[in-house]
Amino acid sequence: MSEAENKKYQSNRRDFLKKATLFGLGSAMGTTLLGRPAQAATRTIFPDGPVLRKPFGRSGIKVSTLSMGGMYDIMNNRLMLAKALEWGIDYWDTAEMYGGGRSEEGIGSWFARKPETRKRIFLVTKLSPRRGADFASRLDACLNRLNTDYVDLFLVHGISSIDEITPELKSWSLEMKKAGKIRLFGFSTHSNMEECLEGAARLPWIDGIMFTYNYRLMHEPRMKAAVEACHKAGIGLTAMKTQGGGPVKKDTDAEMKMAGRFMEKGFTDYQAKLMAVWQDKRIASICSQMPNLTIMAANAVAALNKTALSASDRALLARYARETCGDYCAGCGRICLQAVHNRVPINDIMRCLMYARSYQDFTLARSTFQMLPDETGALLDRLDFRAAERSCPRNLPIERLMKDATTLFA
Ligand code: SF4
Repeated sequence: MSEAENKKYQSNRRDFLKKATLFGLGSAMGTTLLGRPAQAATRTIFPDGPVLRKPFGRSGIKVSTLSMGGMYDIMNNRLMLAKALEWGIDYWDTAEMYGGGRSEEGIGSWFARKPETRKRIFLVTKLSPRRGADFASRLDACLNRLNTDYVDLFLVHGISSIDEITPELKSWSLEMKKAGKIRLFGFSTHSNMEECLEGAARLPWIDGIMFTYNYRLMHEPRMKAAVEACHKAGIGLTAMKTQGGGPVKKDTDAEMKMAGRFMEKGFTDYQAKLMAVWQDKRIASICSQMPNLTIMAANAVAALNKTALSASDRALLARYARETCGDYCAGCGRICLQAVHNRVPINDIMRCLMYARSYQDFTLARSTFQMLPDETGALLDRLDFRAAERSCPRNLPIERLMKDATTLFA
């Protein structure tokens, strides 16, 4: 940094800190994918009404625009579920693999105590095909843990190719709908999302998709077209990973400026990123991991915020996305996978790192890593990732990050 740049940075930093104090913002430590410490500002203000509702694709079922993702297995989480209902957050998301079934059990114990609330909840669970093809008995086990007869939306968990949605799954989904065990069917995807969405738009029996979508990806031409195709096909769309990898750092002039600018308007950069996605009218809901009441309140306040991001706010976010592009794995797994001859799912490992470093959720990071093929840990240590690194359009330091993953997970 030159002396002039340093002066500008220091002045913006002072300005930012002044605003943070003025707006009463606390700070929570976070870490980026690359492992650098970062600060995220949060404001504990409670929502003054229920969050908005939107139709979920052609199903017409209205869902809350904010969806509860995360773990609900301890007493404290029951308080969160009660608050979620009070604030109108009645789209609840879980999966067989979250906490090895404990997340579903937590929701099940809620329904055991409050059976009258079941009909108010749009309930989602997911099964990963990587854990086996026996979906029928596994779905029954999910329903048992959830203490319910049906889920509103069933998702095939974490596909990376539309070919994973087989004709057999189509027949199974129709059978389950007939049996009343699922109302809607679809998939979630963190990997090769554009390709999965393009394929889904051609399958009229896909009702819903949960996919990685944020201020970094929403401007990419292929992503824009894929979202439009699904929207036109009447598929209900839920965005996840909307923070685009972690909190905004305060390392550079552009970062300080951005954080300060949103604070002046009365919200944090964390909330601004959610608002950018909500402004895309094709997205029915945002699924957000909300591990505590402070984060849930901040998200609900953002969902109610009537202040739209201006064109220049959105441009600032887009500029920030460009400037920090090398800090974020975009899930285009096919590219780096080819470079290691399909031997190590690099983008899945990047996601594990994101869970561990940005979300500070080691349980989720480890359980996701354990879902990867058995030989992954050993290969991480042996393989040369330089070709993968050269192929990455975002110039991510894959070699170093795979070493970090070996230390953390293998
Ligand atoms: S590491 Fe690079 S090529 Fe691989 S999925 Fe991430 S952004 Fe794409």
